[in-house]
Amino acid sequence: MLDLILRSCRLATGAEPVDLAIADGRIVSVGRADEAARETIDVAGRVVTPGLVEAHIHLDKALLVDRVSGPAETAAEAIRLTGVAKRGFTTADIGARARRVLDLAVAAGTTAMRAHVEVDPIVGLDGMHALLALKREYAPAVELQLCAFAQEGILQSPGTEALLRRALEMGADLVGGCPYNDTDAGRHIEIVFALAREFGVDADFHVDFADEPEHLHVREIVRQTVRAGWQGRVAVGHLTELAALPAVEQAALIAELAAARIGVISLPLTDLYLMGRRDVRNVRRGLTPIRRLLEAGIPVALASNNIRNPFTPIGTADPAHLTFVAAVAAHMGTQDLMRELVGTVTTHAARVLNLRDYGCAVGCRADLVVWDCDRLEEIVTALPPRRLVVKAGRVSVEHERRTVERWRSKGAARPSSG
Ligand SMILES: [Zn+2]
Repeated sequence: MLDLILRSCRLATGAEPVDLAIADGRIVSVGRADEAARETIDVAGRVVTPGLVEAHIHLDKALLVDRVSGPAETAAEAIRLTGVAKRGFTTADIGARARRVLDLAVAAGTTAMRAHVEVDPIVGLDGMHALLALKREYAPAVELQLCAFAQEGILQSPGTEALLRRALEMGADLVGGCPYNDTDAGRHIEIVFALAREFGVDADFHVDFADEPEHLHVREIVRQTVRAGWQGRVAVGHLTELAALPAVEQAALIAELAAARIGVISLPLTDLYLMGRRDVRNVRRGLTPIRRLLEAGIPVALASNNIRNPFTPIGTADPAHLTFVAAVAAHMGTQDLMRELVGTVTTHAARVLNLRDYGCAVGCRADLVVWDCDRLEEIVTALPPRRLVVKAGRVSVEHERRTVERWRSKGAARPSSG
């Protein structure tokens, strides 16, 4: 007996709706399902995608706007303001704020997420303790990868390397660096790779987060990726400086990233907010060149990064909202480009996170979202509500909407149209 049949699903790959049959947490057939199932739901031709993937988020420093002295004008100021707030963090406080964001993400259809957990002499391992507990608690709804992250630097913040090692021993899934916030970027990158190799885990860097190509630490990351044989296991976030390189140099560096199979994570809300602050006229957008990276075959994820803190004063933890912004901010308004944008929060993001068996094909894990729309690109253009979320073959979230349009006639209620 099947566990679940979703009837009449419109997938990205096909024109005609199909049934998805699910057993033991996996998709076992795509087409026409005639077998008996414990639960059958007709989704009536709605768009169904794999579960949303949030490739880069900071749950531990989310929701801080009510306790910092003011908004940041630069990345350095955001790090400083958040560092001050961090001195007041406790395990319970981190857990409470992270839980609010996780609830938003899960309701939006996020079934996998990579969270950077700050590990440094200020906060110690409090973030790891809080997030490891939430990783277990939220496992039925979202697969949470924890990245032990050196936001305050490693060399300029003595004790951090030992704490990163301890976090990996505790169960962090990967290790993350921030070479632009340290005294020796090359050595910082080396330490992160040494930890990645010691524990056999992926590495993820915050890198080249400035308006002008003044760091380009990504070149060293490419070198060390190849030297370590870590191709396909490294991701870089921000990478806004790449956009400031002359075209020929930019193309050469993009080719190097593709050859080293490094994934790129664009953080559009933070980058649009913090870049271009010194521009008096023609304020630049400060986004990594998403289209050119995609054209080179590099997996590009759009991710939330920060939710309502000095780095980003807004945030909903709904990955679809990022595609809505990027369609205009990255000039991706054609039907094909908007379908690619859906990929930046689904298939591309899954590649960046090295998720196994991800997708809507037979054998894939049954992590799915049913959207209230019938064309894939409407996810980007219209931010449709989610109808259902399925995690590991079980319906994890159901949304119901009711709109009463009292102006039309007395008390007439009608279900919202899909
Ligand atoms: Zn980040």
